[in-house]
Amino acid sequence: MSTAVLDSRERAVLIESARDFARKEVAPQVGTYDREERLPADLIRATAGPGWLGAAVPEQYGGSGLDWVSFASLIEELSRVCHIIGLAVSMPSGLVGGGILRYGSEAQKQTYIRPLVAGETFAGAGVTEPGSGTAVADMTTTCRHIDGGYVIRGAKAWISMLEHAAWFLTFARLEGTTGRQGVCAFVVEADSDGLGRVPYKNKLGFRPLSTGDLVLDDVFVPAANRVGEEGQGYAVAMAAVETGRLSVAARALGLAQASLDASVKYATERTVMGQQIGRYQLVQGKITEMVTGVESARHLIADLAADKDAGIERPRRRASLAKMHASNVAMAAATSAVQIHGAYGISEDYPVARYFRDAKVFQIVEGNNELHTAMIAEYALGYREQDR
Ligand SMILES: Cc1cc2nc3c(=O)[nH]c(=O)nc-3n(C[C@H](O)[C@H](O)[C@H](O)COP(=O)(O)OP(=O)(O)OC[C@H]3O[C@@H](n4cnc5c(N)ncnc54)[C@H](O)[C@@H]3O)c2cc1C
Repeated sequence: MSTAVLDSRERAVLIESARDFARKEVAPQVGTYDREERLPADLIRATAGPGWLGAAVPEQYGGSGLDWVSFASLIEELSRVCHIIGLAVSMPSGLVGGGILRYGSEAQKQTYIRPLVAGETFAGAGVTEPGSGTAVADMTTTCRHIDGGYVIRGAKAWISMLEHAAWFLTFARLEGTTGRQGVCAFVVEADSDGLGRVPYKNKLGFRPLSTGDLVLDDVFVPAANRVGEEGQGYAVAMAAVETGRLSVAARALGLAQASLDASVKYATERTVMGQQIGRYQLVQGKITEMVTGVESARHLIADLAADKDAGIERPRRRASLAKMHASNVAMAAATSAVQIHGAYGISEDYPVARYFRDAKVFQIVEGNNELHTAMIAEYALGYREQDR
C-alpha cells in the first residue's frame, strides 16, 4: 500500500517537524482538552497540511504513501505529546481506512478515503459489540436484504470518534449465519435514519476521544456501500488488525518515552535530603527499566513496520509482540513516572497522571494482552503457524 520510502535524512526531517508541531501547537493545550474530554479537532485537521493524516494512504487517494517505518516513527513522535492525535493521524491508514483500501471499490476509496485524508471528515470503525469484544466473529448485529440494499439491526460498543464521525465502517452478519461466514462490511453514513449514538463520559483514560455505543435500529444501507463481497466482512475487519496494532504500539511507545522524559527532568531537579533524587539507586533502577523498555519496544515496532514494508500482508506474530510489549512498557513507565514525581505525580501540575490513566487502556485495546501472551506462546510451541 505504501510507495514513498524515506531515507534516514528525510525521516529525520519528518520527525523533527512532527516534534516541532507537537511541542509548539499541541503541548500547550493537551492538559486542558484532556480535562474537558474534548477532541482537538482543529489540531487533527492541521495534520492534513503536511500530509500526516493520510501518511500511509496511497497517493492516488490523496495520501502521502509513506513507508511503514516512517509512519510508525511519526505516530510515536506525535504521541510523545498526545497519543489521541497519534490515533487520529493513524486512522485513515489503519482502523477506518485499511479495510476499504484493501477490499473497497474504487468509488468507495475516492468518496470516503479522500475527504478523510484531507481532514474534511472524520470516521469511525464499529467492530466491538456489547456482548463480543475480543471474539469478533460472535457478533450478533444482523443485516438482511431489501430492495436496493440492506437493513442493519444491532449495536456496537466502545466506538471511537463516535460524535465526530461522518460515517462508520461497520459489520453485520446475514440473518441465519454463524461464525465468520456471512459477515458483511458496510460504510454507514452517520446521518442515516435509525442510527443512534450514545457517548460514554468520564472514562479513566483516552478522555478527549469520544467513545460509545453505535445503535443501528433498522438502518438502511445501499448495496453500493457494502465493502467487499457478501461474507467477506470478517476479512475486511482483519485487514486493519496489524496496522492497528502497529499504531497502538507506536502510540504506547510515545507515551512511554514521554514518561521517561518527564522522569529524567524531575529526577535531576528535585532534591531530597541534600541530593537530587536521580542520585538514589532505586530511582536509577526505574530509569534504567524505562530506557530498556523504550528501546526494546522501538526495535520490535521497527521490525513489524519493516515486515509490512517488505509486503508481508499480515505479520501477526510480530504485531502481537510489538503491541503487547509496547503497551506493557508504557504501563510500567507511567507507573514509575508517577512514583518518581511523588505527590506531584498525582496532581494536574505534571502530565504523568494522564500518562498513567491512559497507559492502562493500551493493555486492553487492539487485542487484550492476555490474548497476545497466549498467541506468542502458541507460535513458540508450534500450535500456530509462524509468519515472522
Ligand atoms: C478507549 C477505547 C476505544 C475503543 N475504540 C474502539 C473502536 O473504535 N472500534 C471498536 O470496534 N472497538 C473499540 N474499542 C473496543 C476494544 O477493541 C475492546 O475493548 C477490546 O476488543 C476488548 O473487548 P472487551 O472490552 O469486550 O473485552 P472482552 O473480550 O470481554 O475481554 C475481557 C477480558 O477477558 C480477558 N480475556 C479475553 N480474551 C482472552 C483470551 N483469549 N485469553 C485470556 N484472557 C482473555 C482479558 O483480561 C480481557 O481484558 C475501544 C475500547 C476502548 C477502551
